[in-house]
Amino acid sequence: RAFLDRIDKYDNTISAFITVDRDLALEQAQQADRIIAKGENQAFTGIPVALKDVLCTKGVKTTCASKILENFVPQYDATVVEKFKAQDAVLIGKANMDEFAMGSSTENSAFFVTRNPWNTDYVPGGSSGGSAAAVAARFCSGAVGTDTGGSIRQPASHCGVVGLKPTYGRVSRFGVVAYASSLDQVGPITRDVTDTAMMLNLMGGHDPKDSTSAPEPMPDFLKGIALFKEQGLSGMTAGIPKEFLSLEGIDPEVKTMFENARKTLEGLGVDIKEISLPHTNYAVAAYYIIAPCEASANLARFDGVRYGVRDMDANDIMEMYKKTKSKGFGLEVQRRIIIGTYSLSSGYYDAYYGRASQVRALIMDDFKRAFESCDIILSPVAPTPAFKIGEKIEDPLTMYLSDIFTLSCNLAGVPGISVPAGISSTGLPMGLQMMARHFDEMSLIRAGYGFE
Ligand code: GLN
Repeated sequence: RAFLDRIDKYDNTISAFITVDRDLALEQAQQADRIIAKGENQAFTGIPVALKDVLCTKGVKTTCASKILENFVPQYDATVVEKFKAQDAVLIGKANMDEFAMGSSTENSAFFVTRNPWNTDYVPGGSSGGSAAAVAARFCSGAVGTDTGGSIRQPASHCGVVGLKPTYGRVSRFGVVAYASSLDQVGPITRDVTDTAMMLNLMGGHDPKDSTSAPEPMPDFLKGIALFKEQGLSGMTAGIPKEFLSLEGIDPEVKTMFENARKTLEGLGVDIKEISLPHTNYAVAAYYIIAPCEASANLARFDGVRYGVRDMDANDIMEMYKKTKSKGFGLEVQRRIIIGTYSLSSGYYDAYYGRASQVRALIMDDFKRAFESCDIILSPVAPTPAFKIGEKIEDPLTMYLSDIFTLSCNLAGVPGISVPAGISSTGLPMGLQMMARHFDEMSLIRAGYGFE
């Protein structure tokens, strides 16, 4: 009730949620109460958790913040949702996002803009902006987001909370509406690193329903915190890619935050060295070909025939397809579909998608080589603190460039965390990004705990 009352009071301003079913949440809470009374509670029994509206929830609207799915009610739960239900968590609401997770500010939602709880003139980041704002505004204890090119880490950074993108394949994508299938990962957004470890413990693990989910063993990620308490971070080596700091357009306050974070880690026993990720400059270009290509294939299913909105005002099927897609998809989604279909069309495939895939392989090699000499890689999450609502939305290229620090992590498939590491003079939080080897989220939990 306390969380729901807070939502009633403040979500008119923040607009973190697309759907909150008060009665359903209270019913789940009462059920949890009965289980707790019997002493049969598990880690998440009764804990209020928000879900990005890209995760399918049985019987509860799942819109992807798109008009085309405005009234879509799935008939099954995503695997991650099932896991929370199995422990009787309270699924308090479905959080706003950029339409189909395309964006960095949550301004691409077809319904409304979410505001940053630290200063409501600013964006919360995106695309999981509703999830991050809900955690920051204390509308829930934790939230689930998805990250294709930074969509968990960047909003976490802008909202002063913790966000973790697990290794590709660590968390099941079954029941998560696909954006770019080779890059998408589901992960937690929480108040602190302990909660992140607990959420990952629950969410991770092999799922036979997702063919890209990894049969990798799941350690208890709380061990990372125990390890920190015993040994601090001694024995750990961190690399700072020299290419990152020479990039243009990094806010001086982000640089200061990064410098301070480096000193904090050094103080905790980390050995810091300079490393190189030579293909950094090509990450944005490669990502913004690969992601739209995959998106154009994934979004082909929204044709007005099988589910979602259908435009009824057409004379034949081609016209119905056209009208449905033109009215149902927002401008950014249409832009990506056009870039994607163009880059995949015959005669252009080799020059665009083929080329971008080759660059991706080089970026993966960069990471492999870098991790031969360090355990974690450090960078800011974003080149600036949160920007003002409306500031970048007319200029997609500037918006894309702000993803420079987060994209390569998805292209390489490695895990990455964002931890709050400073506040700008304008009162906005800034996050530090740490990345680790495939399936070594433990090091991120351990090092992240150093910032608590
Ligand atoms: N901002 C990036 C994009 O628009 C990443 C989004 C995401 O991670 N879902 O594609």
